[in-house]
Amino acid sequence: MQADENPFFRVEPLADGVFAALAKPGEGAWANAGIIALGRSALVVDAMFTPAAGAALRATAERMNQSPVRWLVLTHRDHDHVLGSQAFRGATIISARRTAERMRDRAPAFLAAARREGGRWLLDLDAAEQAQVDAHDRTRQAAMRADYRTLFSQIEDVAPLFPALLLEEDFTIHGQRRTVQILSFGGVHTESDTVVYLPGERILFSGDLVQVGLHPAVRHGRPRDWLHVFGRVADLEADLVLGGHGPVGTREDILLAERYYYELAEWAGGAPVPEPFASWDAPQTLLENLRYAQTAAAR
Ligand SMILES: [Zn+2]
Repeated sequence: MQADENPFFRVEPLADGVFAALAKPGEGAWANAGIIALGRSALVVDAMFTPAAGAALRATAERMNQSPVRWLVLTHRDHDHVLGSQAFRGATIISARRTAERMRDRAPAFLAAARREGGRWLLDLDAAEQAQVDAHDRTRQAAMRADYRTLFSQIEDVAPLFPALLLEEDFTIHGQRRTVQILSFGGVHTESDTVVYLPGERILFSGDLVQVGLHPAVRHGRPRDWLHVFGRVADLEADLVLGGHGPVGTREDILLAERYYYELAEWAGGAPVPEPFASWDAPQTLLENLRYAQTAAAR
């Protein structure tokens, strides 16, 4: 077995000592993660959905860099990015203060409900999957159900670790090999969305702010907040981007994401959704975004 082979994710090199861990659908990782060698230690971006996937992520990061993982950055509070965090005991877990607060509210409630009602949720997800008319939508729904099933099969052992270093402002780590910037420009996908940027390599780990070829879920803030956030993201001038879901992208994908947030308010007002956005994956998310943008514009 290759050093980077495991059931949960595929490893793709982005630069010397910088890797994307790309989630395999339905195996329990759900969200992508980043691995960054700093020199005598390594930093991981996001912890994936299950403890087993988180453990494989840490083991891969330590094997590939021949150094311990000293830092874990959580980009936002969604379960698919944080529930694997218990595999990072001994590392310093970093997030925006607001992200840590929301994770503390949400994770225990979600886990308690999952222990009580997980079996019924799987039946509901199965029914939702059967109801999808589009084969592509059904495949995506099936992967999501499989990710939940994997989590529920180890639910008694899920005990996420919470961030210990809570950021009020930007934070920079100067490693022996490279510099890592941890930046929060505001809320778009959640109350607080953090990105991780490598200025020397021009690589951006964008959490769920930038997705490649699929609709990003817009659930927070107002159109002018989105433009502010995206102006800052675009100013970083990254050449490569890893979003929380989907493949590795380029600067082109960041500019498309900026245009997406810019035009979303117009689409919500009735303008037709142009290509390439009209063909992006996760069409249900587009409908939810349009509904959200309509109410956000009225605020
Ligand atoms: Zn996500």
